[in-house]
Amino acid sequence: MKRALITGITGQDGPYLAEFLLSKGYKVYGTVRRLSTPNLENISRIREQVDLLSADLLDTTSLTEAIKEAQPDEVYNLAAMSFVKASFEQPVLTGEFTALGVTRLLEAIRAVNKKIKFYQASSSEMFGKVTETPQKETTRFHPRSPYGVAKVYGHYITLNYRESYDMFAVSGILFNHESPRRGIEFVTRKISNSVVRIHLGKQDKLILGDLSPKRDWGFAGDYVEAMWLMLQQEKPDDYVIGTGENHSVKEFVELAFKCVGITDWQNYVISNHPKHMRPAEVDYLIADYSKAKKVLGWEPKTTFKELVEMMVKSDLQKEKKGK
Ligand code: NDP
Ligand code: GDP
Repeated sequence: MKRALITGITGQDGPYLAEFLLSKGYKVYGTVRRLSTPNLENISRIREQVDLLSADLLDTTSLTEAIKEAQPDEVYNLAAMSFVKASFEQPVLTGEFTALGVTRLLEAIRAVNKKIKFYQASSSEMFGKVTETPQKETTRFHPRSPYGVAKVYGHYITLNYRESYDMFAVSGILFNHESPRRGIEFVTRKISNSVVRIHLGKQDKLILGDLSPKRDWGFAGDYVEAMWLMLQQEKPDDYVIGTGENHSVKEFVELAFKCVGITDWQNYVISNHPKHMRPAEVDYLIADYSKAKKVLGWEPKTTFKELVEMMVKSDLQKEKKGK
């Protein structure tokens, strides 16, 4: 039985990856950081099937102990401070988690067992102010936020451990991916949740920032398979994962309102609100995932329309249940 350790198992991607690995027969461990109130909602469905270990990206000893305990064949580093807006407010802490946290984890692996395969969750935010369209593995990085900068560090330290210590360390450059488990502060989930609440008469307005940025939005459930595939290859390498299609925030808003039968969405939306504007914006992201398609045989399965519908439907059920 193969063993996997997932950092960030309580986030959006962690539970999808855990479910996927369990379906492949893996023994799955996940790390959680100590909080005064545990945040296990996203893993409630699989809580009994995974083993949770206490570890924090700020603390190498805890990471080393978790690796000793789990004895994994594969480590998936999904833990990070992942919200771009917050990274402008807490740039130093973002660097500690999202950048140096990767080195702490790689050092822990190197100390315990250098043969453990390592997946680093890199991000399309590294492309930032894009120098080429669509973006692929060789596109130059130009991050536009402390989060993007920290992810560039995480990306290169992963590459460096591969080259320096001959470790099987890969980096998946994933474009935005969403789901009903997405954190409420990210724009897609904020929209789906607010649209449903407006539809049910629980909220008057949806207050947003810039509606013009375009993202290549995919479904998180499709993307975790690509993470796993990267670790099953003969050689470690880096891959871009996305859909090859992009849409503006405005298109997401329009479609979400349409899902609940509202066509005059402009009457409910306030845009360009200063609270939700960023000091530097990423305007246009779109993936060229042809390498992943060719080498991994991976392709996205869920369309943009299906994704929006899935998120609105899920929020409608949750709001009706009063959750
Ligand atoms: P989430 O923000 O939903 O989850 C982040 C996870 O990291 C949570 O489980 C969180 O735990 C954990 N975490 C945060 N800080 C620490 C810490 N100091 N020590 C230990 N754990 C910590 O992210 P996603 O699931 O959406 O994304 C997974 C990874 O992929 C992240 O690294 C993200 O940056 C990256 N990524 C995501 C993309 C996306 O569109 N979703 C796109 C590209 C990359 P807690 O519950 O305690 O807060
Ligand atoms: P990001 O791509 O990782 O920054 O993911 P987000 O979901 O946080 O943001 C996607 C895009 O939506 C960015 O270009 C934001 O500037 C834009 N946006 C517009 N209004 C909002 C808002 O109210 N909240 C968030 N999170 N993003 C917004």
